[in-house]
Amino acid sequence: MLQWYEAAGVDMAVSEEPVDRFAQSAVAPPPARAQAPAPETSSPAIAAPGADADPQTARDLAAKATTLDALRETLESFEGCGLRLRATNLVFADGNPEADIMLVGEAPGRDEDLQGKPFVGRSGQLLDRMLKSIGLDRTKVYIANTVPWRPPGNRTPAPSEVAVCLPFLHRQIELVAPKVLIALGGASASTLFETTAGITRIRGQWRELTVNGHTMRAIATLHPAYLLRQPAAKRLAWQDLLSVKSALDGLA
Ligand code: URA
Repeated sequence: MLQWYEAAGVDMAVSEEPVDRFAQSAVAPPPARAQAPAPETSSPAIAAPGADADPQTARDLAAKATTLDALRETLESFEGCGLRLRATNLVFADGNPEADIMLVGEAPGRDEDLQGKPFVGRSGQLLDRMLKSIGLDRTKVYIANTVPWRPPGNRTPAPSEVAVCLPFLHRQIELVAPKVLIALGGASASTLFETTAGITRIRGQWRELTVNGHTMRAIATLHPAYLLRQPAAKRLAWQDLLSVKSALDGLA
């Protein structure tokens, strides 16, 4: 049974004790027959619980945060993204906010959700080794994700979830103001570079990226989770890492 749950994406308990919902519904009163008619329209400012808010709301809130700490606090209390409901922790960032280089992954997984830090699981360990191979570590880079809450069962974040989180990521990039940005994997690259081209086509190509008026050099590479599944692709990631290293040497 547990294997079945895990395959369906249910891989964490949400409370200490199990709750028997069947027993609860058996004693629940039957629905009232005569109900007041539902209002025809609801206020657009109030999203249903779990619904994703209008990205403009997120843009307005993100713009008000003038520091990374303020932005983190804004996200801690933001209720406009449905992912937050089932996540254990906000996964805001790790690394050095003063770094010249920023990495953006897709979404936190189970380990990240539990620890509230990006890339701490198996793909994070590989990411650390990749960084080390070009003389970097988490004191020299800043790491975030396109969405800061774990999607249940590690599913791909829905477009509305990405859309409502993007203004916060854009503000985070603006406040860190890196000189070089690395998109880790296709989902991050397509969100940040606004492209539908596949990661195998666009990886390794430098581009200028402007986010909220801040311009930086940007490149996409393969996601460490993909490299764990396809070790033969590490050769391509290594080419990208060497390219990042020479870009950083050019900054020095
Ligand atoms: N994969 C990601 O894209 N981000 C994380 O933080 C962890 C795994």
